[in-house]
Amino acid sequence: MEQDNENKNLAEIQAQWVTVRGRIRQKIGDAQFKSWIKVLVLEDYDDHKVILSAPSNFVRTRIIEQYLDIIKSYWLIQNLKINDIQITVIKKENTKNTSTKLESKNVDSTKTDKDIFKSISSDLDNRFTFSNFIVGKPNELAFAAARRVSESKDVPFNPLFLYGGVGLGKTHLMHAIAHEIKKRNPLRRVIYMSAEKFMYHFIKALRFKNTVAFKEQFRNVDVLMIDDVQFISGKDSTQEEFFHTFNALIDQNKQLIISADKSPQDLEGIEERMRSRLGWGLVADIHPLTYELRLGILQAKSEKLNTKIPENILEFLAHKISTNVRELEGALNRLSAFSSLIGREINIDMVQDLLKDLLKSSQRKVNIEEIQKKVSQHFNIKMSDMSSARRSRTVARPRQVAMYLSKNLTSRSLPEIGRRFGNRDHTTVIHAVRKVEELRNKDASFDEDVQLLIRMLES
Ligand code: ADP
Ligand code: MG
Repeated sequence: MEQDNENKNLAEIQAQWVTVRGRIRQKIGDAQFKSWIKVLVLEDYDDHKVILSAPSNFVRTRIIEQYLDIIKSYWLIQNLKINDIQITVIKKENTKNTSTKLESKNVDSTKTDKDIFKSISSDLDNRFTFSNFIVGKPNELAFAAARRVSESKDVPFNPLFLYGGVGLGKTHLMHAIAHEIKKRNPLRRVIYMSAEKFMYHFIKALRFKNTVAFKEQFRNVDVLMIDDVQFISGKDSTQEEFFHTFNALIDQNKQLIISADKSPQDLEGIEERMRSRLGWGLVADIHPLTYELRLGILQAKSEKLNTKIPENILEFLAHKISTNVRELEGALNRLSAFSSLIGREINIDMVQDLLKDLLKSSQRKVNIEEIQKKVSQHFNIKMSDMSSARRSRTVARPRQVAMYLSKNLTSRSLPEIGRRFGNRDHTTVIHAVRKVEELRNKDASFDEDVQLLIRMLES
């Protein structure tokens, strides 16, 4: 089944390439076409990238300077998903064997070192650019360092070591560096890969006795980025190899950029000499995001959505989801999809319901006493009135709100809540919950009061 799909995609991509070539031929004429376009070979593809090979560096440079944009736009017309076209060089030393990787896809033994090269750098996400990165206190150092590395002609610090918790933007920054370097100079060779992929390729090279070729491809690189290097820990031979590659590149003054979830000192299972070398250059950490930065990110991202998410919802999310940006994005996307489905703006209640799972994991625990305190302050009554027998509206209503919040924000049972409010019966609590629900639906300003209280209690 998977094989079928792959063959189908392959046939599609090849057909697209034929059409693209035809268009370009019409546009640039036969002579130019023969010299430059006809010699390109479709080598590989995935969901959104196509790799073509040129027979020499000379042709490759010319293509990049003169034809790449045309190829890109014609291809985009054929297939909206293709947003990246890369040109590699494969010299035809063996003219009889013109089979490309595509044609010999399942025959591993025919793989050459060039095949490894072609697939070694991972795709870059086009959304991960500097302009899409929101900067605040927690990530300003990492951001500045990343910019510096991508703008410098020389090597400002080596390596640049970025670290921080999950979903704080390490991968985003690395891709942004790669985009920027390529934009400034398309000929600079940038390899971005995860440490896992590095290991995978290294082990594969070992198996095919291809380690020389494996090392060779790093020799020609200008910038090497290895993401999530914590995954190399403990794997002795790969760590050894990584260390050599690393040293060799540093010695040649090639820029290295490494990311991990911890600082070099705190990385476990890494040899001492490696640890110290990782810390040689600039070590920049990304701190957990502040409320302001979370809100800034949400505002920026929500502007790009088709549906409008009200500001108070964004604030609510920024308060409630404190863990990582990926979760913030997930929440936004879910809300946006829902809102466009139902065709109206979302409110806090819908959010609570839609994001139950996300909110639960990052929810702060509140207790009944805190609720009573906040509610009394808010309505300007004495805390003791939460459990007093007084029944005047001025104290009874706040008390009901506090019961309602206790029911919704804590896991306490109705009888227990009743007890904490001056030994009242659980039916009194039920009545209070219903009453407050009813009022929230009827009275917008009352509803706002309750929302405000919820926000204050949970942040
Ligand atoms: P990490 O690699 O640190 O685990 P990622 O770089 O994959 O995190 O970031 C997770 C998601 O959050 C990505 O979609 C990324 O675009 C987004 N993101 C992280 N930080 C920011 C930021 N400061 N501004 C905008 N988007 C961000
Ligand atoms: Mg990452």
